[in-house]
Amino acid sequence: MTNILMQRLICLACAISMPVYAEDFAYHYRPESLDVPNVGGMSVGIIDQQNEKILGEKVYREIHSHLDVIQNPWLEDQLDAIFRNIVSQTNLGAPIGLLIIKDKQVNAFAVPGGVFAINTGLLALAKNRDEVASVMGHEVAHVTQRHYSRSQEAFKGQGLLALAGILVGAAIATQSNSGAGSAVMLGTQAALVSQQLSYSRDQEREADRIGMQYMVAAGYNPNAMADFFERMQRSSVQLSFMPEFWMTHPLTTARMSEARLRAKQFPNVKPNISDPDYELIKWYAAVLSNDVTELQLKTLQAQYNQAAILALTAFYLQQGDADQAQATLNTAQMQIRKNILAVLLQTDIFLAQHQFDRAYQTVVSQQKIMPENRALTYKLAEVLNRKKQPAAVFNLVNKILQDNPHDVQGWDLMQRAAVIDQASPVQAIQVLRYRAEVEFWSGREEEGIKSLLHAQRLAKDNLSLSATIEHRLKQMQAERLFTLE
Ligand SMILES: [Zn+2]
Repeated sequence: MTNILMQRLICLACAISMPVYAEDFAYHYRPESLDVPNVGGMSVGIIDQQNEKILGEKVYREIHSHLDVIQNPWLEDQLDAIFRNIVSQTNLGAPIGLLIIKDKQVNAFAVPGGVFAINTGLLALAKNRDEVASVMGHEVAHVTQRHYSRSQEAFKGQGLLALAGILVGAAIATQSNSGAGSAVMLGTQAALVSQQLSYSRDQEREADRIGMQYMVAAGYNPNAMADFFERMQRSSVQLSFMPEFWMTHPLTTARMSEARLRAKQFPNVKPNISDPDYELIKWYAAVLSNDVTELQLKTLQAQYNQAAILALTAFYLQQGDADQAQATLNTAQMQIRKNILAVLLQTDIFLAQHQFDRAYQTVVSQQKIMPENRALTYKLAEVLNRKKQPAAVFNLVNKILQDNPHDVQGWDLMQRAAVIDQASPVQAIQVLRYRAEVEFWSGREEEGIKSLLHAQRLAKDNLSLSATIEHRLKQMQAERLFTLE
């Protein structure tokens, strides 16, 4: 399953880090409080936090418009839960969200304002949630310690904007699927990026050290950081070619041994050798990113690997073969069929077979038990859209959108419901309003504004609706002008 391309670095920042000196580090675990250095003179005021939120949302849209993002509520929520666990150990505000990028490179980055982007390549390399948490801890520590603004001349003045622009630009420049023969180009662009974004080795050590505290405080195993470093190192050895840039900035053995040593300072955590839930995340992500073959999954299925059975079910659904998907799902143990992912897949099978009532029964029974679950709620809304019940969709999805106003998938469900809501006197206006949100949050800001202007013209005789549209239009226009250079 290891792809020759599936490799690179833990994060752009870390990859370009210089070797860490193996000098002694003074480190003492203090369970009562996190040992996080005070970032003098950089305290975040309310205005800064608001700016960071606007910036984070801008980055969220930029990533959507430039990178191949996998939109899957179940997968997003699994990883978002880890991210929120880590962020809740910090003094950062509530995060905006997490984006999964379909890219075989091992990469991830965090942006001020609470956006975390993670590549499917990293999910494929990790063995458990703890390893993913170690990467998140490290990246989040770069943000909490404001490494981008503390030493980088390039970030002064423009600060956050410059950082976000560079991170997104780098992610675009180094996409592994940007075509064959781009290795040279990749090296050049990456070198340009490295000049703009290089954390000092002290900052790398600080991010490793503080990141580990965050992950431990959130309940993850600190040894996972060294485990993941070592696995990255081993897999990079298997590569026969690589842009020179990455070769000259390897993950250092000093950083790995420091991480191992440091983990020993924490109370023992039971190692997570087998993490069946993570297997689900990993194989399902592999299917969604077209990064696994039927044969590979069948081989695992023959070994009664329950995660592979669900992944293979998803694989057949993706191929449009609902019968084969059902036959595969039927081989899963009863226990695994109670998993939310299994419920979602069963619903999809019924939808593909146009058995809308059975689809409804399958998902509604679970959604009633867990009404706050976004994946189940969206799947129920999808079924209700197919059953032509728009009012129920508006009711369900609005509740989720209140906490996630930037959620493209939610707005898309609203738009679809508005399209079938022929009884509404303002149907055309609502379709345009929801379409505007889909476009805007997908990073197509100008199209979003155009759709909303169109809605405004249609709503000119409706005072209250006009006012609502006017308010939203002003917001969109202001946020569009917030540029990333
Ligand atoms: Zn780093």
